[in-house]
Amino acid sequence: MTLRVFSDRSRPVHLGPYPLERLARQDTPLTDGIPAPRPLDFQTPDRQDSLIGAMAEHQAMMDAIRDGLVNKARATCPDDPVERSNHLKAFGYFSDAPMVGICRLSPAAYLETPWRNPGIDRLANDLRTRQTKTLASGIDLIMADLKDSMEAPPSTIQDHSHAIVFLYDHPRAPRDGEPGTGWLTGAEAHRSCLRASETAVVLANYIRLLGWDAKAHTQTSSDVDLNRLAVAAGLAIPRDGDLVNPFIGTRFGLAALTTTFEMTPDRPLARRQPGLGPRWWLGYRTAKSAFNRDPYARRAFHMGPHPFETLKRTEAPTTFIDEPRVPRVPKRTDMFARAQFGDLGPAVQEGAKGGHYARKAAPSMAERRMLGAFVLLQDGAPGRGPRPVDAPGNALAIKAASYFLGIDAVGISRCPDWTWYSHDATGTPIDPPHPNAISMIVDQGFETMEGASGDDWISVAQSMRAYLRFSLLGGVIAQQIRNLGYSAKAHTVLDGDVLQPPLLLLSGLGEVSRIGEVILNPFLGPRLKSGVVTTDMPLDHEKPIDFGLQAFCGACNKCARECPSGAITAGPKLMFNGYETWKSDSQKCATYRITTQGGAMCGRCMKTCPWNLEGLFAEKPFRWAAMTLPVLAPHLAKLDDRLGRGGLNPVKKWWWDLEIDDKGAYRPTP
Ligand code: SF4
Ligand code: SF4
Repeated sequence: MTLRVFSDRSRPVHLGPYPLERLARQDTPLTDGIPAPRPLDFQTPDRQDSLIGAMAEHQAMMDAIRDGLVNKARATCPDDPVERSNHLKAFGYFSDAPMVGICRLSPAAYLETPWRNPGIDRLANDLRTRQTKTLASGIDLIMADLKDSMEAPPSTIQDHSHAIVFLYDHPRAPRDGEPGTGWLTGAEAHRSCLRASETAVVLANYIRLLGWDAKAHTQTSSDVDLNRLAVAAGLAIPRDGDLVNPFIGTRFGLAALTTTFEMTPDRPLARRQPGLGPRWWLGYRTAKSAFNRDPYARRAFHMGPHPFETLKRTEAPTTFIDEPRVPRVPKRTDMFARAQFGDLGPAVQEGAKGGHYARKAAPSMAERRMLGAFVLLQDGAPGRGPRPVDAPGNALAIKAASYFLGIDAVGISRCPDWTWYSHDATGTPIDPPHPNAISMIVDQGFETMEGASGDDWISVAQSMRAYLRFSLLGGVIAQQIRNLGYSAKAHTVLDGDVLQPPLLLLSGLGEVSRIGEVILNPFLGPRLKSGVVTTDMPLDHEKPIDFGLQAFCGACNKCARECPSGAITAGPKLMFNGYETWKSDSQKCATYRITTQGGAMCGRCMKTCPWNLEGLFAEKPFRWAAMTLPVLAPHLAKLDDRLGRGGLNPVKKWWWDLEIDDKGAYRPTP
């Protein structure tokens, strides 16, 4: 992690992490010298260990759902085209797009022959035989919609008037001899394509949910010339037969969506650009700078983006786990499953019906369609790969590949029997099939959390965005392992057979916090969602960590004070079901999250925790003191209050407060 010197607190989200507004622009796009686009091929039959092949099915799945039905009940949303542009660009940045631009769509940008990913047909064939066994509410609707999408005839974009273009920079190429990077050779463009596709497909779905037509276009399935659109949308300049972005250069991938939704376009870039100057080098009030643009510029991929190597490792987690006494419980005891079955009362059951808590806000609903589709890819039969037996080498390669794809933290541990549910969602007993667990965490993002209360209308989309990212990237890692000849399953929020918090502890990704089931990471705080890939691939294990959190949480009650449902205890830790923990009332928490009227779900505890940090150099003394001088914990917690941290920053509020009505239209909330 390269710490930033300047905060970007005063920068609206729609401007993005790069200072695009400082570039020279002109009224008409350059048309000469734009290279012809070429589809990207994800087939690597002669390289069984290439990560490109492991991405292929997920890319095909996104291509299969790049289009869909338009909500007939049109939303009541702002008419102002500038506000619309700002909103959708901010949604792109919330989804981690490095750069977003908007242009009008002219027929000159149509491809003569649209591209269609050949993997879609292979996938459609495979999916006829794949079943889900998840209790996730609303999954039946998602599966029916997916089947329709696979079989739908190609749609046209003739009446689309605008395009939103997403530019994703490539990760750096692996260095000669860099540990763990053997699978990554030549995969940079495919990784950018995969991530850009995720954002374009989600946002196209979002616009359709609002009631306007939209279709995503990727480097594997497209109706439009993405290069031409990138120039028109002010993201790139044609130069010497290539496309150049002033901050990134030529190493980037593109995706776009086209739509009937009217927006204000960006102005195209001028051919001659001013020097980027010291403000860019230092990152003056922008998240990205010349120094931190690539988190792996000075780090090996397997090390990850944060200095995990500086953490103190211990033989056992800092909270006691009485392993022989941890009972295995059925999946049916999961609080959201219980809500659906009516165990928490009729109001909660109603709130959970058909995934209403996610459907009620359009951004989360837009993310959930893809999340549901990926359930079909998270498990499968092992391939006939080379079955590498080098446990340390396999662990390095898994970590390097996960970080290359964009996971924020990865830890590897044993996967003991007591971490598995006793019965799956169908009631079938689980005989733990895998001895190893690869735990992954995804940052929920500081910026949007800063503009939110934690329990307002963007809250559910913050969770869903992180769950979706794991489903995509964890799903690719599980596929990679299967391609190599081992068994592997990604355990996602919609379908998982393991309890994730103890695995996060065993793999050194965090410590138990007062929030109870939330494991807190020293670099991301509690602002995270997790996922786990289990496997029988031989893997070296990591050790748990100790960064002083037990003393800190013992002296800080901020989350207990801020929790709107009173679910978090202000008391001491106790033993529960074999775990030493601060026992939160998960029924109160689930009830609040599912039934809250003033928003959609909740993450207020994560937002208000003093460990929810922006990643600035100025925060370094806090982190150091919190980790090394536990005696200061109560003072640091008070200081956090005095500095006004955990409050609302209106500059960062980009989403529209819309709620679904009984006709399915998204309407402004009272
Ligand atoms: S708010 Fe305080 S008590 Fe709660 S998890 Fe964060 S540090 Fe621990
Ligand atoms: S998610 Fe909300 S309701 Fe649940 S513990 Fe956190 S603050 Fe409380």
